[in-house]
Amino acid sequence: MPRRVVILGSTGSIGVQALDVVARSGGELELVALSAGSSWDTVVEQARERGINRIALADPDAAALAAEAWTEGEVLSGPDGLVALITESDCDVVLNAIVGSAGLLATVATLGEGIDLALANKESLVVGGELVGQLAEATGAAIIPVDSEHSALHQLIGAEKPGTVERLVLTASGGPFRGRTRSELTGVTVADALAHPTWAMGGKITIDSATLMNKGLEVIEAHHLFGTPYDRIEVVVHPQSIIHSLIGLCDGATLAHLGYPDMRVPISYALHYPERVDVPVAALDLPALGALTFEEPDLETFPCLRLAREAGLAGGTAPCTLNAANEVAVHAFLSGRLAFLGIAEVIEATLDQLEVRQLHSFESLTEADARARSVASLLVQERPAA
Ligand code: NAD
Ligand code: MG
Repeated sequence: MPRRVVILGSTGSIGVQALDVVARSGGELELVALSAGSSWDTVVEQARERGINRIALADPDAAALAAEAWTEGEVLSGPDGLVALITESDCDVVLNAIVGSAGLLATVATLGEGIDLALANKESLVVGGELVGQLAEATGAAIIPVDSEHSALHQLIGAEKPGTVERLVLTASGGPFRGRTRSELTGVTVADALAHPTWAMGGKITIDSATLMNKGLEVIEAHHLFGTPYDRIEVVVHPQSIIHSLIGLCDGATLAHLGYPDMRVPISYALHYPERVDVPVAALDLPALGALTFEEPDLETFPCLRLAREAGLAGGTAPCTLNAANEVAVHAFLSGRLAFLGIAEVIEATLDQLEVRQLHSFESLTEADARARSVASLLVQERPAA
């Protein structure tokens, strides 16, 4: 029996690579539904090509246009449409490749239904990690990470006995601005920040990589996925992006996961888990690589990593506030309304202005997210554009 797969965010960087993984699965994976935010023409074309008869669009106007253009299948719309797409799909695994905290709803709907979740949308664990973890435990659904570092950790930790893993080491490429000082980041452009040295990804995560917020979000993601205390999660800059992460064991051994940067590897791992299948990537050529290098992250120049760690330690609504402020600031930077260095400033000032509250329910997250967005938006307006 093929494993039935739903891909959310199918028009994005991860989504498109996931379609490739499904197409190469030789019938082991069967695509049953797709979703996107607003790019209705692309998702309709994907559905046509693959004979899918149900899609969802977050944006109601885009959904209306899709329904007009595509009469062979059903178009669902808005948050309710997304939830219906998941819960009525009779699928075995949902790949959540939506960008931003908009992905939380899909994570909750999937796990709440007891469906296994292949998770690229790290923001849903950052924002709602405590509650999301409890939900998965309650329904018995598995969360298989797609983020390359966490996929590496999942593989490394999965091979060890409980209680033997003492520390996690996440690798970071350092992004396009590695080695620069703070003053050298004044006036960097959107194009500079989008020029990632090792990974081709969507716009938001590429900016997160340039500020090192991506690694900060990943520290929080690792904390929730593996239950590891923050003081046992380290970050090391590794510009070649060949080692995807490492674990330190109680007997002094350190294990690493290596490979060329290609997201189809962790996507395939998550969709086929616990099986492994062929992925057409080159075998690692170590002599050609020559050297793998490592550096301490520069927290002076890239304060976002520190801010994320602090928010993770504070817990409650703090990571949700951090994430919402980051989304607002990154969006403003990408649209030319905020300087690059303003991103961290807006996030820090938003965290300073909003008290940390305890989390009681997913509603408290929605409120914290909205509060942080409105504070961060005002802070963006007070600051100079790029
Ligand atoms: P992307 O911007 O390329 O694609 C995002 C997808 O989400 C698109 O299909 C878009 O239509 C959809 N979307 C946007 N807003 C939406 C909304 N409000 N509701 C529903 N759908 C919406 O992003 P990406 O680079 O593919 O990243 C997706 C997620 O995977 C992010 O959380 C990112 O951090 C994570 N991730 C990406 C990579 C990578 O290599 N791209 C690696 C690791 C983790
Ligand atoms: Mg990553």
